[in-house]
Amino acid sequence: MTKTESHAELRQRVRKVCADFPEEYWQELDLERRYPEEFVQAMTESGYLGALIPEEYGGLGMNLSQAAVILEEVNRSGANAGPSHAQMYTMGTLLKHGSEEQKRKYLPKIASGELRLQAFGVTEPEAGTDTTSLQTTAVREGGEYVVNGRKIYISRVQHSDLMVLLARTTPLDEVEKRSRGLSAFLLDLREIVDGLTVEPRRVMMNNETNALTFEDVRTPASSLIGEEGQGFRYILDGLNAERILIAAECIGDGRWFIERASERAKERVVFGRPIGQNQGIQFPIAQAHAHVEAADLMRRKASALFDAGESCGAEANMAKLLAADASWEAANVAMQTFGGYGVDAEYGIERKFRETRLYQVAPISTNLILSYLAEHELGLPRSF
Ligand SMILES: Cc1cc2nc3c(=O)[nH]c(=O)nc-3n(C[C@H](O)[C@H](O)[C@H](O)COP(=O)(O)OP(=O)(O)OC[C@H]3O[C@@H](n4cnc5c(N)ncnc54)[C@H](O)[C@@H]3O)c2cc1C
Repeated sequence: MTKTESHAELRQRVRKVCADFPEEYWQELDLERRYPEEFVQAMTESGYLGALIPEEYGGLGMNLSQAAVILEEVNRSGANAGPSHAQMYTMGTLLKHGSEEQKRKYLPKIASGELRLQAFGVTEPEAGTDTTSLQTTAVREGGEYVVNGRKIYISRVQHSDLMVLLARTTPLDEVEKRSRGLSAFLLDLREIVDGLTVEPRRVMMNNETNALTFEDVRTPASSLIGEEGQGFRYILDGLNAERILIAAECIGDGRWFIERASERAKERVVFGRPIGQNQGIQFPIAQAHAHVEAADLMRRKASALFDAGESCGAEANMAKLLAADASWEAANVAMQTFGGYGVDAEYGIERKFRETRLYQVAPISTNLILSYLAEHELGLPRSF
């Protein structure tokens, strides 16, 4: 595996890893609500979960376009990248703003799989989408910060050693701008002995997610990422990468649904002919296919700009919006094509249908992308 191999070769290799994890594997996990430990292990051993870690720290040193291809192929195989993708999303914050000491300490171990950085603690019950209103505080006391507050829907905490946490270090009424005074930390969850409560939340799909309560949780001052008070900017920096990677997962889902729907439409015979011979069945599949392929073009544009170090906020947001809509459309089309079998767990459509629905809401909802485009691209008045 090298960082220069073509996307086609990379796709082939990822497919090979995913081939060991067929539909039955994901269905069983879904039923048991179990973490795909074996899959995550295989993806780690193949190096893919350390794809964005530079080679000097033991990673594959790939660019975002390659990372996107990996996650797309994972979802296209019928798997779900959700349980393991955060390592890629959070990497930007650590790579760009982490100290050399933090990078040397953690990145080689993350690349080898000895440590997992799969948890990202931003969302809070009260603040919701309005991140700068978050209420979790981190107060400096000598060589430590003391963290208090609550977080909600923080995924993979029980399968992660490290967590990137966003907390307020300067009270809101003491900062010039709401986005200041927030700081990012790299918490070593293994070292937290007291004060952190992790309560699992059962959600629609098989995704280990939790409500967290921090009560006087102590973390060394060395866990601060970059400068105190600049955390919101650091997290925002990583969001374009996150949007592009999520878009790639949605495109993978969309292609999976379209392939399944097309196969079914060819095979299933009703009224003496394949259902796919009816335009009422084939047109919606063709339409969804066109939308997935169009979204992929925007995703490619966004990742190319990102890799060239150019500004890509609008493209990354549009890629996520279009891809999430296209995968959701494809999910509905597949569900309709399968008829009653679509809701039958054995056929796998309903599982993926639940999984891909999340991307209308998380990690950023469609409305927030539209308001970003309206305000920043079209110059319309800010709506909130
Ligand atoms: C399964 C799952 C896993 C998650 N994993 C993580 C994780 O690992 N880490 C993490 O930090 N977070 C995580 N999240 C949280 C996720 O990012 C949030 O749920 C999401 O950002 C939306 O926030 P909210 O749920 O508080 O919605 P709210 O803020 O309550 O918003 C509800 C609805 O109102 C809309 N809305 C709000 N304000 C406006 C406005 N001004 N204009 C128009 N519409 C508006 C929103 O778009 C949304 O549709 C996860 C969520 C889920 C469900």
